[in-house]
Amino acid sequence: MGIITGKTKILGVIGNPIEHSLSPVMHNAAITALGVDYVYLPLPVKPETWKEAIAGLDAIGCVGFNVTIPYKQEIMAFCQEVSTLAQLVGAVNTVTRTSRGWSGDNTDVAGFLAPLQKLTRNWSEINPVILGCGGAARAVVVACSELGCPEIRVVGRSRDKLNLFAQSWTKVGLKTPIAVYHWSELAQILPTTKLLINATPIGMYPQITESPLTTDLVDLVQPGAIAYDLIYTPNPTKFLASLKTREVIVIDGLEMLVQQGAIALEMWLKKSVPLEIMRQSLINFLELS
Ligand code: NAP
Repeated sequence: MGIITGKTKILGVIGNPIEHSLSPVMHNAAITALGVDYVYLPLPVKPETWKEAIAGLDAIGCVGFNVTIPYKQEIMAFCQEVSTLAQLVGAVNTVTRTSRGWSGDNTDVAGFLAPLQKLTRNWSEINPVILGCGGAARAVVVACSELGCPEIRVVGRSRDKLNLFAQSWTKVGLKTPIAVYHWSELAQILPTTKLLINATPIGMYPQITESPLTTDLVDLVQPGAIAYDLIYTPNPTKFLASLKTREVIVIDGLEMLVQQGAIALEMWLKKSVPLEIMRQSLINFLELS
């Protein structure tokens, strides 16, 4: 980042809490490398004043901002336009100022897909298993549908939440069928999948000794399968570390984080951004902190 002056343009991320966000680290690293006159700020926004905060971002000429928990759904009502993809996911994580007002998009889907697209697989023969049915799982479902997977299997601990999750996709007309399973049925479906995704926070710092898979379940994962953990701290998580012994290809959440951020920054700056610098800034930061 160069010197901040009266002309420096403002980007940022809104959320609550926001102090643990890694986005300022990677975005400002890219901004510095590109030598552009921008700054990316963490913007802590409390629920009781968050509407005023959005109006404030408009008033000060903010160029664009990321949105994280708990505002990814609510922000949609404040966008003058929302991309078809974000409507399908039901969440916006990237907002850009346009001549018509705020434009909402979702870069989590492309961020999730980026490391998978480097692998050669016949996705039309793979039925992914997604652990968790929260916000991140929604982006993963849309991504797996875009890959062309024939059926997507979603595992959760609450049958009510699973049923609501399944119904929500019928409402938006997702082309891929969604099958939901209770956590107690996981042992039946694990051996059938070549793509296993952890979209729960189980194993996330500071609960680093936890894993969504018990030892008996680890043994059911097919050798050669892809195991993808959305968690980025610790790296690797216990989930991914336990599967390395089973000749599984592992992908961690850091790559998704970097990729979704890079796509957002490209939208705002309308130019290519240095992906490797963004990735390395996070690796350095996480090792130091
Ligand atoms: P969320 O909306 O709170 O959803 C979490 C899901 O996990 C829910 O289905 C929840 O079930 C389930 N869950 C939580 N604890 C569980 C447990 N002990 N046993 C079984 N299921 C459990 O959270 P999210 O936004 O989807 O985020 C999920 C994870 O993805 C987080 O670790 C987050 O950091 C990560 N993430 C990473 C990226 C990235 O760029 N790498 C992006 C987004 C999210 P209930 O509803 O029953 O509680």
